[in-house]
Amino acid sequence: MKSHARVVVIGGGVVGASVLYHLTKAGWKDVLLIERAELTSGSTWHAAGGMHTVNGDPNVAKLQQYTIELYKEIERISGQSCGVHITGGIMLASTQERLDWLKMAKARGRYLGMDLEIISVNEAAELFPLMDKKHFKGAMYDPIEGHVDPYGVTHAYAKSAQIGGAEIVRHTRVTDLTQRADGSWDVITDGGIVHAEHVVNAAGLWAREVGRMVGIELPVLAMEHQYLITGDMPELVGKKEQLHAIDFEGEIYIRQERGGMLMGTYERAGVPWSEVTTPWDFGQDLLANDLDRIAPSLEVGFAHFPALEAAGIKKVVNGPFTFAPDGNPLIGPVRGLKNFWVACGVMAGFSQGGGVGLALSRWMVDGDPGADVWGMDVARYGDWTTLAFTNAKVRENYSRRFSIQFPNEELTAARPLRTTPIYDRLIGEHAVFGAYCGLEHPLWFAPTAAEAVDHVSFRRSNSHAHVGRECAAVRDGVGLLEISNYGKFEVKGPGTAEWLSWVMANRVPKVGRIALSPMLNERGKLIGDFTMCRVAADHVFLIGTYAAESYYLRWFERHLPPSGVSVRPCAMEYVGLSVAGPRSRELLQSLVRDDLSTAAFPFLSFRRMEVGMVPAYVGRVSFTGGLGYELWVTTDYQRALYDSLLKAGREFGIRPFGGRALNAMRLEKSFGTWAREYRPIYGPYEAGLGRFVDLQKDVFIGRAAAAEEKDSGGALRLLGFQVDASDADALGDEPIWHDGTVVGWVTSGGFGHRVGASLALGYVPAAVAGAVSGFEIEIIGERRQATPLKGAAFDPSGALMRA
Ligand SMILES: Cc1cc2nc3c(=O)[nH]c(=O)nc-3n(C[C@H](O)[C@H](O)[C@H](O)COP(=O)(O)OP(=O)(O)OC[C@H]3O[C@@H](n4cnc5c(N)ncnc54)[C@H](O)[C@@H]3O)c2cc1C
Repeated sequence: MKSHARVVVIGGGVVGASVLYHLTKAGWKDVLLIERAELTSGSTWHAAGGMHTVNGDPNVAKLQQYTIELYKEIERISGQSCGVHITGGIMLASTQERLDWLKMAKARGRYLGMDLEIISVNEAAELFPLMDKKHFKGAMYDPIEGHVDPYGVTHAYAKSAQIGGAEIVRHTRVTDLTQRADGSWDVITDGGIVHAEHVVNAAGLWAREVGRMVGIELPVLAMEHQYLITGDMPELVGKKEQLHAIDFEGEIYIRQERGGMLMGTYERAGVPWSEVTTPWDFGQDLLANDLDRIAPSLEVGFAHFPALEAAGIKKVVNGPFTFAPDGNPLIGPVRGLKNFWVACGVMAGFSQGGGVGLALSRWMVDGDPGADVWGMDVARYGDWTTLAFTNAKVRENYSRRFSIQFPNEELTAARPLRTTPIYDRLIGEHAVFGAYCGLEHPLWFAPTAAEAVDHVSFRRSNSHAHVGRECAAVRDGVGLLEISNYGKFEVKGPGTAEWLSWVMANRVPKVGRIALSPMLNERGKLIGDFTMCRVAADHVFLIGTYAAESYYLRWFERHLPPSGVSVRPCAMEYVGLSVAGPRSRELLQSLVRDDLSTAAFPFLSFRRMEVGMVPAYVGRVSFTGGLGYELWVTTDYQRALYDSLLKAGREFGIRPFGGRALNAMRLEKSFGTWAREYRPIYGPYEAGLGRFVDLQKDVFIGRAAAAEEKDSGGALRLLGFQVDASDADALGDEPIWHDGTVVGWVTSGGFGHRVGASLALGYVPAAVAGAVSGFEIEIIGERRQATPLKGAAFDPSGALMRA
């Protein structure tokens, strides 16, 4: 084994082999893969090898498409067959909700260029004669589905990488990792030490163990997974290879395997494997079968596909593979650890492995993944993902793999975990909670405890009218909102203003003022949106999306100078409340000595005040788009602040409101939000944030690209639409049609209660953005007329928030 390599990839499963190949393809030849046994000796060897393009996240779906298309390339380079069988696939619906879900998936596939088709039960039965029609209502057909040979794929990647210059060492285990002062790594193995600039943890089933070598606890857990293979079936003799099928209600996937059928299930009673540590002596082993556990699914499967029962079970495979809490991979650089990368938690290696390798290799070589990989970024998790939290969420995710998650459905595992001091007060107000980063926050308020429950639906639900009343309170009087679930950072030191001016696109505000600012990467794309509150010359309180806290910190740490500025995350040290609505000033004024008149405390002011007995930062800003204030206090004061605002607010008809009302109101203002309207695939001018980019500043990250985008206008435009919808609103990811062609996609949608209209925000090509008619948005399979809005639907001049 050589003693030095630019990169050491730990793990020779399908993911490590793909990363290795993509690094050589990107031009890094001095790369070494270390595998403790033979290639494929983790989850990979016993996988069913199924692959498909459909994914809930369109960005992940694109990487899945890439993976499937890649197999021809690695077969050609390596001469190794991947055993690709593109059979096509059908997804079978037994309920109306599932059929609606399929229609939405088909619609989403439109702007990804996917050729999906909704078909009748009779058409499905013609394509897949093994099904018993009486159990189904309809289906979706996808021509690009199939399966591969896991061994062949992994070796094709590995050989292609070796042809590109990579080396692979087998039967060598990485036992420890130590970092040198310059950030490079000593990779300690049972066969000697390799000095490497970069290390990639692609250790699959052992990713946690390799993480622990560098002091991190990765949120991954392996689950046992069983599939069975039937005896040979006369029904298959002389026939074309059967399609892949997913039977959602049976929680079953099924495909042909030689003369029989392979049937796997994500059963409800899923069982984790090696909950704390993965044994090093586990190799190409299988786990003991437990058919009792999957009996309920098998029963449904045999009823839905009767010929399988008659064929009998020839073989059962039970093997473990890993999941992150949300079921998406964990990839990217780990914050706080220079040159340490992860590519793990990949639960669908044969659909996603290629895309993961591509994105990670670009990230390492070019400093940027080259695609929107927010949904897979390891930085989407933070300190709350303890081992037990991960365990609960992974079990839940596994058991719901084939369940619909409705847009208004809040999953229940690992809850409540994190709560703010007013949690019980909010329960007393009959709040319905959601969990975000493990933190409970109110979504809406019901009139009674018995009504405080969401009836899940793709359509307007039981909360609709209540949310409407909350919006009316904010429109006409005053509402009170818990806003603790934001990321917060204290930026301090003499270099604060200069540094922020470099990392943020907008001008740093004066002391006592607030400025909104996008954060751009070098390519001028949006990687964050912040509220900068200037407390003092050398102190800025920064507010952004909580889920992106680690993502932002990773970026900040990369760009911090050696001295003069410090950035400290303080999300849970400061919790917040917002008062919003035309009477919010009177209410707040009754509790503070400071003059809150617009002359004395105008829009975008920020000041330390005493609110009753509570010391608070008060900002005159509101995401509702009307008059409003945000109050930030240390956690110990939140309860007192809440009580005094409610008490003083009685006179003004105060009413608590929740996240759903806030979302409706920000849509009425066409205010975007991170991970929906603002993502690293959009530029600030495309996203309508151009007014927050200060090109007068000589330097800031992304300036050149932003200036270019301003000149060219960018390729896309974020538009607001009023939608002619009836009982279901756009939610996000629906296609936008123009003159009969799909031109764009919705980023958010909902009902604007203050304006009484269904609204949506979405991107369309700049060339059609000026059209005043001809737009439609497809909602649950129906194309609805969508009228582009000239400005915000609510208070387009912005006079109310400045008044
Ligand atoms: C029963 C079953 C059915 C499945 N069906 C499908 C399917 O149909 N389609 C699909 O896409 N996916 C399927 N999967 C999931 C698929 O197997 C995984 O997504 C994939 O194998 C993950 O690959 P990996 O490279 O991340 O991890 P692994 O395959 O676990 O590879 C990790 C490798 O790292 C090596 N390693 C670990 N630690 C060290 C160390 N310290 N030093 C050196 N080497 C180390 C291990 O020996 C191992 O070879 C299935 C899984 C199972 C169990």
